[in-house]
Formats: sequence, C-alpha cells, structure tokens
Amino acid sequence: MPELIEPGTVWLVGAGPGDPDLLTRQAERLVTAADIVFYDALVGKGVLEIIPQHVERVSVGKRSGRHSKDQKSINDLLLSAARSGKRVVRLKGGDPAIFARTSEEIEHLSLQGVPVRICPGITAASAAVASAGASLTLRGSARKLTFVTAHLSAEDCNATDWAALADPASTLVIYMGKAAVKDAADELMQAGLNRNTPALVVENASLPNERKVRTRLDLLAIATSASVTDGPAVLIIGEAVRPLQPSLFTVFDTAKAAAVT
Ligand code: SAH
Repeated sequence: MPELIEPGTVWLVGAGPGDPDLLTRQAERLVTAADIVFYDALVGKGVLEIIPQHVERVSVGKRSGRHSKDQKSINDLLLSAARSGKRVVRLKGGDPAIFARTSEEIEHLSLQGVPVRICPGITAASAAVASAGASLTLRGSARKLTFVTAHLSAEDCNATDWAALADPASTLVIYMGKAAVKDAADELMQAGLNRNTPALVVENASLPNERKVRTRLDLLAIATSASVTDGPAVLIIGEAVRPLQPSLFTVFDTAKAAAVT
C-alpha cells in the first residue's frame, strides 16, 4: 500500500474552524503521518493537540496587523522541507480553497516539481451558520451564495465593489470583514439592499468562546463593534439567516444599539 504522504510531497490540509471534532478523518491521519506541520494562526489549539509529539511543528501564523511570516518565506520553507525529503503538511484554518493563499503555494511548489495534494476542511461560513442553527441558502429567496473577503492584499488596489453585491436574492458572507463592515453595510444599503435584511455575526465559530449575534443590515456595523472582540469573525447577510432558533444566538436590535451609542 502506498504511504499516506509520499516523502517530498506537500499536503495542504484544512483544519476546519477550530473545534477538533470538525476535523476530517483524512486531516487527522495526515497530521499523524507527517514529519513536519506548518500551521496558521487560525488553526485551533485543540487541532494542534492532535499532532503527535514526534512531528515537528512550525508556526507560520498570520493575523492581520500582527507580525508574521510573509508568503514568500512560507513558500520557501515548504519548498526546502519537501526537497529534504520530508512528509510535509501545511495546515490552514477552515478550507484551504477559501481565502487561504492556496493557489500561490501550489504554483510555487509545482513549478519546482514538488507534488502538492489537498485535503478540504469545513469553512468558517459553514461552521458559523451551523452554530446559529441556520442555513446559508433558502429555497425561493436565497438561491445564490457569495463568499467575499474585505481584505485587500498589498498588490490589489481595487476596493471591494459592495454595490455590485447588493442582491436581495443572495446570501453574502464576508470573511475578514470587521474593519470594512461599516463601508460594506452603507454601500449595500445605498445600492438598494433593504436596511432590515437579516444579518448574523459569528466570532470564533465552533470554539468555546464563540459569539453569535443576530441583527439587521442597518445595525450590523454597530452590532459588530459592540459584540465582537479580537477573534476571527464572519458576517452573513441575507434572508437565509432570518428563520433562526432564538435560543442559539444573541439579538442585537435598535434598543441595544441605542444603549451603546
Ligand atoms: N480558509 C478559511 C478562511 C481564512 S480567511 C476558511 O475556510 O474558513 C480568515 C477569515 O476567516 C477570518 O478573518 C474570519 O473572517 C474567518 N474565520 C476563520 N475562522 C473563523 C472562526 N472560527 N469563526 C469565525 N470566522 C472565522
């Protein structure tokens, strides 16, 4: 039987949103079979605890605004580990295919002849709605689902065109959106999206310090700044998050908004 990880191969592995129970069985087998694991800041502590002691661990954590390794250094670390014949796992929060610089790593490694394989993971949006007891789509009123990141890379000078995303028949999930939430909500409303559109903010989805706040578009910016601390958070806007189970989240309404302004 072939080895799970061939020496000299890099596996890009989804670590899910944080709760180790949301790790796939394949991800668990891969981190156990690895010689070395490079992991991001968003990989949950409980997930790191699954990595056996004999496996080398290297943090290449990136959280916006904090010191971290740049992408080129990460690419080089992966390349040299693979070239030295190690079984390499690159563990990324959520799903490696979503806002995770996966294409850059694949390109860099494959141009150098290093085989790259991918193990998917549960993305933050899926974990967030699961915790809030909701769905991302809704038959009849949300047949479209958009994942957008509000974070611009240094090379990308095109600001997000929020007006183009103002679609009442769609669910909009914003990753890395805390800093942009006010502009996003204002521009979505200016472009015609109803101010009462349901919105959900979930911080630290799937973790013990998870926070889930249900609000509406015109209160989303204030609800986010009043409720969210310094953890990762997703913002979800659209009719699909209206029919929620009230016991599963906190409601942020006009009375709460008045209390914090
Ligand atoms: N690949 C990841 C996304 C990486 S971008 C995924 O598929 O989930 C980083 C952003 O993801 C954060 O800024 C936040 O918007 C979101 N995120 C990641 N983990 C999260 C969590 N546990 N709870 C809420 N949002 C999370």
